[in-house]
Parts: sequence; structure tokens; C-alpha cells
Amino acid sequence: MADIGLAAFSVFFMQSPSFLAHQRDLARARGRSNCETLFAMTAIPSDNHIRQMLDGTPASHFDPLFAAVLSALEAHGGLAAFRCLSGRVLIALDGSEHFTSRKLHCPHCSQRRRSDGGVEYFHAFLGAALVAPGHGHVLPLPAEFITPQDGSDKQDCESRAVRRWLGAHGQGCARLDPVYLGDDLYSRQPICAAVTAAGGHFLFVCKPSSHQTIEEYLTGIDLPEHRVTVRRGRDLKVHRYRWLEAVPLRDGADALSVNWFAIEIADARGKITYRNSFVTDLPVGRDSVVELAACGRARWKIENESFNVLKSNGYHLEHNFGHGKQTLSAVLVSLNLLAFAMHNACDLIESLWKQARATTGARQRLFEHLRSITAYLVFAGWTELVTTLITGIPPPQPPPSPD
Ligand SMILES: [Zn+2]
Repeated sequence: MADIGLAAFSVFFMQSPSFLAHQRDLARARGRSNCETLFAMTAIPSDNHIRQMLDGTPASHFDPLFAAVLSALEAHGGLAAFRCLSGRVLIALDGSEHFTSRKLHCPHCSQRRRSDGGVEYFHAFLGAALVAPGHGHVLPLPAEFITPQDGSDKQDCESRAVRRWLGAHGQGCARLDPVYLGDDLYSRQPICAAVTAAGGHFLFVCKPSSHQTIEEYLTGIDLPEHRVTVRRGRDLKVHRYRWLEAVPLRDGADALSVNWFAIEIADARGKITYRNSFVTDLPVGRDSVVELAACGRARWKIENESFNVLKSNGYHLEHNFGHGKQTLSAVLVSLNLLAFAMHNACDLIESLWKQARATTGARQRLFEHLRSITAYLVFAGWTELVTTLITGIPPPQPPPSPD
């Protein structure tokens, strides 16, 4: 099973759907391959065998590995890049779909009817990742899979998945002093209360259209205001912040009391180019509202820097292994997120890896080089491989085995 898990993981870590095929060729010609030397595998299973054996494994089986990456990052000072709001961290939560098809499906697919009357099958998950304003690093945490429950109300399912996620991982993350970020779907009392119960804070988008009580509460109040002029080259923008503490989140006597703030950005002509509002349990005032707004706006990074990277760059999820009948689809997402977490941790704390990235340029170039050289050469280990990327000088190769 270790060989099987590592084989699937290696495809994502190397961002190469053909990695295993190349390694089988190398093993035949040279008697060994990078699967043994880089991934500590004892043999290379077939794609079909990997699919059959992983389908049924719970995706949560890999959750402790995310915690191990986080601990490694913490132990080597990599968490400093994520600290904000007086030493806290931001954990962005967001739902994403990782599979849609009109034909392929499994018993765990969600389904919906499209406008042409046809049925579309899909899988979705709740992703969580450390993010921070000011840089593009993200660190994925374990995902919670959204599986069909009673009916197909996406909103309801995602909300339940958030609470399941907090139940499973909230206490473990509490030592980081987390502030959870989420879109307007999250700024509802059950989720805010679940965040607080899990030892965290919340900073959620709160749209006026879905929070009637807050809108009514704010009406007619002369709100405190803070204006900041931001100049970048010739570009001049005015950021206008307004806030109010102790606002009821919803109607009724049991409503949570939250702190509300809004940001508006206007260009030099006074035209509003950005507007958003948030609720949080953290104190909001003139001294904190600017940083809070920057943190709330960092939420988009889970979509742009995390899920889109997974979908568009070399992590083609089901290319090798297909959809499966039980948990395969979710297991592949977990291994994929884990590879992405390890890449990001390497970017932050692994000095040889950082040098290799500096030498090869963009992340995609680094993986292009990794893919091509491991297709032809067998490396004794990661140090030798990454040093080759930096120096351009390959290690000597033993002669091909006689048979
Ligand atoms: Zn399915």
C-alpha cells in the first residue's frame, strides 16, 4: 500500500502524468529508477492497480501528513511569512469543484440538472489554506469533501462541510491563533458560532443584500470613518473605511454580536472601483481597520493561488487513474493538495529548492526541468537532483544493466 500511495503522490509531486511510465522504462533499462531513489518505493505498481487499491481508502487517511508539513514549516521559521494581526494566522475556507461530467459518475457524485434538461455529475470539496496579504504563498490544509446528503442544495452542503472541517481540524489549528476567512455564505450565525467554539476568530464577507438586519441597524447611524490616500507611481486611490462594533448578526434575541466594517476604493476621479464589507469578532477601530480589510481581501488567494494552480498547472487530477467507484476521486484531490502543500513549504524553507527556483525562474519552469531530467537520468536522492538543477551538471550514471 505504501508503494501504491507513493506512486500516486509522485505523479502530483512531479506534476507529470507520465512520471511513472518513464520510471518503468528506466527501471527496465538501468535496473533502478527515481521511484526508488526519490520516493523510497520498492516497486512501481501499474496505474490500474493503483486505481483499484486506492479506491476505498478514506481521503482523511492523509490528513496527518498535512499536519506534518505544517509542523515542519513551524519548526523552520516558515510560519513567520503567514503571521499577521498581532501574531495570528489567516485560514481561508472555500468550496471548489474538482470533477464534472455528463457521463462518468460514481455513487458519491453530487448531481444537478442543467438548463438543457441533462444531468451533470460533480464532486466538490471544502478547501482550507493558510494565506496572508502581501505575498502569494499559500499552505493547503486537509480538505473536507462535500458528498451528497439530503438533496442537492450546494449552500447547505458547503455550510455543513465547514462545520465538519472545524470539528475535525479546528482544535488542532487553535494553537496558531487562527482567523478564518470566508465569503458571504460563511457570515451566518451557525458557522460564526462553530468558529468561536473551535477556538478561532472569524473575518467573513458580509454582503448587504443577504444581511438585512445589519443593513437596518446601520441605517441612520453616523459611522466612524477613516480615509487613506494610496499612491503607486502616478496612480492615486482613496481607501475609505467605515465600521461599527456590536452589531446583531441576525434578527432575534439570540443573535451573535459582531463587529462590522466596510472598505471602498475610489480612483482619482472619485469613481468607486472596489467595495466590500465584512463581519468579525475581532475589535475594529481606526488603528486596526486597515489591516483587517487587507486580511479579509486575502481570501481570494485560496481561489487564485491555490485551486486555480491545482486545476490549470500540471496537476491533471484524473488523467492517470480515472474516477473510481468509491473514494478515488477524493483520495487524488488529497494527494494533490498534499503535493502542493509540500511545494509551498519547500518554497519557504528549503534552501536548495529555493536556489533551484531562483535558477530556473517561474515555478512552471522548475517542474519542466524536473520532468525532463528525471525521465532520462536516475538520481541518488533529492540533494543530487536539485543540485543538478542548480549547476546544470548531471551526476555520472551507472552503465545500463546487461539484461
Ligand atoms: Zn463520482
